[in-house]
Amino acid sequence: MYRAQLVKPNEPLVFSETAIPDAPDGGIVVKTKFTGICASDIMMWGDVVSLGEGVSINLSDFFYKFPITFGHEIAGIVYSIGKKQPAGSALNLGDPVVVYSCRGCNTCGYCAQYAPNKCAKRLGGNYGIGTPGGYATFVSVFNAQDVLKLPDVVPLEVGCMLGCAGLTSYGALDSIKPLLENIVKLEGETSLLITSTGGLSAWCYQIARAFLPKKTKIVISSTSEGRLERFCKIHRCDDKVLWKDGASVADLVALTKEKGLNGGFDAVLDMVGTPQSTNIAYQSLRPNGTMVMVGLRGGTGSYPAPDISMWSKEIKGSLMGSREQLKKLITLVAENKMTCPPISYFKLDEINEALELQKKGKIEGRAIIQFD
Ligand SMILES: [Zn+2]
Ligand SMILES: [Zn+2]
Repeated sequence: MYRAQLVKPNEPLVFSETAIPDAPDGGIVVKTKFTGICASDIMMWGDVVSLGEGVSINLSDFFYKFPITFGHEIAGIVYSIGKKQPAGSALNLGDPVVVYSCRGCNTCGYCAQYAPNKCAKRLGGNYGIGTPGGYATFVSVFNAQDVLKLPDVVPLEVGCMLGCAGLTSYGALDSIKPLLENIVKLEGETSLLITSTGGLSAWCYQIARAFLPKKTKIVISSTSEGRLERFCKIHRCDDKVLWKDGASVADLVALTKEKGLNGGFDAVLDMVGTPQSTNIAYQSLRPNGTMVMVGLRGGTGSYPAPDISMWSKEIKGSLMGSREQLKKLITLVAENKMTCPPISYFKLDEINEALELQKKGKIEGRAIIQFD
């Protein structure tokens, strides 16, 4: 099999040939067809995450050792099936599948609930992080239950994006759904702000539309007027707000709150995660509102402590989702017509060019590796 690996941070990935793995007992080998290039691949490529105020961490001190085979948005077909398959596993050779990429410790309570995305030892074992992922022509998956069959109506290139972009959106939306349902019950309507117009937000907006109460006004913000216009045209958004460069935070907060209902938003999903985005997002919340942090761009968020308690606001983080949530998402996507974000296709041989373009923000929508 052919693969591209990161041997040293910030250097081009190195290509190599190695033997196709045998399917492990209880596992599956997937022949890769499409792998999404996630923004967090770019972060891992650089290895450094800024925590703000001059503090940063090296991801390799915590989550992985070099070389790494990236790729946690994996879709392909079943190539070989190991012995001792788990009960209920009914995969056949050639089935179109998506890989649930999270792997935890397998011993804690969260792992027992099939939610390794919440395991204290999360990330290190994930496919494409600590375990070889989809920047390769084959991926060995240790637990066949992490290989989910895709219905015919969901193409493989869409399926790969569900593994992270879709699941990340679904997990974050699932965490605020009860709140929004309650506000609709109390007040008849509610509102949600999603920051950014990237590929992740494209999934998030559409999943929100299909998944949240109908009486939810969903507003998109962006710092780019052109991207905001195009995004809202494609997805026919309820409303939008431009966070113009150079405008003061106070002005942008006032502008944003006006777009919510009854003085602001009941929930905000910050898909960016910079000091500016999180600051505006938090201040645009109504009393009792929740901000979910999804983006990982880096920096420090600062919030007035008394404001959080006085107005019963909540700030929480969300990382991907559970295997059950991925199953529900696949069903939701199969049952609802969704528009894919614009896709730029690359061959595995072009991966270094693709990473450079993504790092410079030159890819609108999603970049995907297409295999033969
Ligand atoms: Zn990802
Ligand atoms: Zn665990």
